[in-house]
Amino acid sequence: MALMITEECMNCALCKPECPNVAIYEPDAPWKLFGETYAALSNNVYYIVPDKCTECVGFHEEPQCAAVCPVDCCVADPNFPETEEELRSKKEALVADNS
Ligand code: SF4
Ligand code: SF4
Repeated sequence: MALMITEECMNCALCKPECPNVAIYEPDAPWKLFGETYAALSNNVYYIVPDKCTECVGFHEEPQCAAVCPVDCCVADPNFPETEEELRSKKEALVADNS
């Protein structure tokens, strides 16, 4: 299950550098995946791209964005249920893209 950032976000930027999948973007910033560029998913708070979030599986024991967020606004996104195996496959594809 990907994580999502709620409207409680105060745009402190602490989470972005912690994401091993480069899944977090600042407001209004376009996001990229497999060589394509897409329009920002939020224009007022930081956001997580569901297709790029693996809950940190394969890198860390817990989601790093949630661990550092001072206002606890990085939460599970119920719209993107995934198994551990699916998250690992996703991670492998993303590592190839980011390398
Ligand atoms: S849970 Fe991990 S992979 Fe997902 S956005 Fe947060 S830091 Fe990135
Ligand atoms: S750490 Fe939390 S408050 Fe700060 S930018 Fe990320 S989601 Fe927003």
